[in-house]
Amino acid sequence: MNSNRLPVLTIVVPCYNEEEVLMITARELTSILKEMISETLISPESSILFVDDGSMDKTWELITALHKTNHHANGIKLAKNAGHQNALLAGMDTAKAYSDCIITIDADLQDDVQAIRQFIHKYRAGHDVVYGIRRERKNDTAFKRHTAQWFYRVMEKMGVELIYNHADYRLLSKRALEELGRYRERNFFMRGVVPLLGFSSAEVYYDRKERAAGESKYPLRKMLAFAFDGITSFSIKPIRFLTISGFLFLVFSAIAGIFALVQKFNGYTVPGWTSIILSIWFIGGLQLMGIGLVGEYVGKVFKEVKHRPRYGIDSGLIRNTTQPKKPSATPLRTRLRSSRKLS
Ligand code: UDP
Ligand code: MG
Repeated sequence: MNSNRLPVLTIVVPCYNEEEVLMITARELTSILKEMISETLISPESSILFVDDGSMDKTWELITALHKTNHHANGIKLAKNAGHQNALLAGMDTAKAYSDCIITIDADLQDDVQAIRQFIHKYRAGHDVVYGIRRERKNDTAFKRHTAQWFYRVMEKMGVELIYNHADYRLLSKRALEELGRYRERNFFMRGVVPLLGFSSAEVYYDRKERAAGESKYPLRKMLAFAFDGITSFSIKPIRFLTISGFLFLVFSAIAGIFALVQKFNGYTVPGWTSIILSIWFIGGLQLMGIGLVGEYVGKVFKEVKHRPRYGIDSGLIRNTTQPKKPSATPLRTRLRSSRKLS
């Protein structure tokens, strides 16, 4: 952060059919923004960016009206419903150009807007990433609470690093946003990617409230799809599970083979039983392991095509480096030849 200048903050709000709650949200966010501007915590150029994620109700009309009357309110409208995560990305990409930091928050006021002030304090203290963590979820339905807990547990088992009880209420500095832009995968699971960025991070705790108005846009179907997307875009453990179980079946087929032979020599079997039993276990195990092995390679391809950056640089102390020379227009070989002629 440039210490001489107040940071320009943009609050990105994804909105999908949020006509019932939008005006309340806009009022709350504007008032905290104005408070922080008057406390000289943030620049007066700070603003809110509403992202209309292809709503079918009056959301965009309301955003347009807000933009006319409230000079802190901006909006973009997506061509069609792209989903919460993509709406967030669209907003962040747009806001990145003119902001020093951005905060993403849901439109329904379930996340305490008062925490924004603490986000900014943490940012000003030098943190590039600030996670909003739900302290308690007593206002969520029991169903939502349990499914969410189950989600974190499964993700952990699958080896996906997530911040417990953190959703998409977070602050990212400009350079964290730029770093995020280097993750070029199509299936963008932001909660999993942000912890991979590194940089100095901090946490802010808040109480999760009930939706101010309207109803959840995340039915069970979308929640399951979200979890499945998270697992399959971060982990190849399900494939490894296939390989290992195939291997175990093969081992088991050896044991079953010995058992079948013993039975055969003791004369306890009907003709043909031994060979059938042996083939079933052996072929089954071999096939499973084969699928798993192919999967391992597909997994590698899957990791490669994402073109993720291999590292991110936080800061550097480098002395005595010469500026890299501009590449010359003449190819190296002609240059060498002509210099030889000169000497
Ligand atoms: N949302 C969105 N696109 C969608 C679904 C949801 O932009 O396809 C937005 C929604 O307007 C809200 C946020 O994502 O601002 C979180 O959705 P919601 O509050 O319904 O989810 P929940 O809190 O119930 O998990
Ligand atoms: Mg919500």
